[in-house]
Amino acid sequence: MPVISLKNIKKIYPNGKEAVHDFSLDIDKEEFVVFVGPSGCGKSTVLRMIAGLEDITDGELTINGENMNEEEPIKRNIAMVFQNYALYPHLTVRQNIGFSQTIKSVPFKHFFDFKYRKARKKEINDQVEAIAKKIGLSEYLDTKPKNLSGGQRQRVALGRAIIRNPLAFLLDEPLSNLDAKMRSQMRTEIAKLHNNLKAIFIYVTHDQIEAMTMGSKIVVMKDGYIQQIATPSELFMNPSNKFVAGFIGTPQMNFFDVKIIQENGKKYVKLLENNAKLLIPEEIVGQIKDGYLSKEVTLGLRPKAISIEGEKSYVAQGIKGMTTISEQLGDEALVYFSLNGKNEYIASLLTYKKFEPNTEINLSFDLSHMCLFDKDSEESIIDR
Ligand code: ADP
Ligand code: MG
Repeated sequence: MPVISLKNIKKIYPNGKEAVHDFSLDIDKEEFVVFVGPSGCGKSTVLRMIAGLEDITDGELTINGENMNEEEPIKRNIAMVFQNYALYPHLTVRQNIGFSQTIKSVPFKHFFDFKYRKARKKEINDQVEAIAKKIGLSEYLDTKPKNLSGGQRQRVALGRAIIRNPLAFLLDEPLSNLDAKMRSQMRTEIAKLHNNLKAIFIYVTHDQIEAMTMGSKIVVMKDGYIQQIATPSELFMNPSNKFVAGFIGTPQMNFFDVKIIQENGKKYVKLLENNAKLLIPEEIVGQIKDGYLSKEVTLGLRPKAISIEGEKSYVAQGIKGMTTISEQLGDEALVYFSLNGKNEYIASLLTYKKFEPNTEINLSFDLSHMCLFDKDSEESIIDR
């Protein structure tokens, strides 16, 4: 049984906005799930419905098999870590982390029992110190939030959630206020924390790199609809539609207009821009859905699948391009080019060579990880 289960969840806001349509997802113990998609696609809405901060219009949310649709947030045993850290400015790190325990720590019957109170205080303090150690804040326990960096404040907010020992941590774009360097550091820290805590993490981001580096299960969303639920490598290698293919991976996947043709029993894609004919690898031929022979479709190729004459991986295929610009990124060069004067594409090369604009280049396309999409529905037509 999944720990958290969403079945056909729908959200219509009071103003009539349909933010989430038919969202279904099962989350198992200790999973790190990421919701990723462009701003406004409904990620926060789903997260807030799980936390109980937003009503569920339709569908069913269960936690450990029990229906939670109408349950109070506090009863769901889920901790939401907010984007704006919401720390108490007048309290130290120690007091901030211990806060939820302190307020519920003294039952009324022990109110005048000072021995009890002292023991409970020590217990909370030990807990706070153990958590501070886990999240690297031991040296800052008596510091106030205003004297901490963004990343440290973020960790205090996490510490406040950890002490409640929740079933799941919900994080909504927690790193978006941090600079690039801090973000990549915190990414690793959160991944480590997840390993330590062994709880469910549900992490919302619009940043596909964050999603790919942190998630074990990624939910790609667009306009309130789930596009694909998969592991990072599955999303990268086998995107279910053109949107996912273009959204995941930098630089972006190239899309070419092609026609699937057959000659002498062999199948090819013909590039419509220059009529170059490329043999479809045997194993992929068998995976292409029926009904696409002689049809125009979209070929998707990652920039790394394209090479330029002079590289080891180059094989002459009669594809001529014209460079627009090239960018040197250290061990990789991005070469932007057009075919037949139209559209811009990107090749990623393992080279230090610089290409001047408007240089004619010979290209080769490696189709071993090619994607093909229906021109109208934009769904993948390869059954891998
Ligand atoms: P994301 O987190 O992916 O950026 P949200 O879940 O915040 O997206 O929003 C999804 C859609 O619902 C957006 O179009 C947003 O404008 C709309 N929305 C969010 N909150 C409300 C609200 N309280 N009332 C009406 N519409 C809302
Ligand atoms: Mg949001």
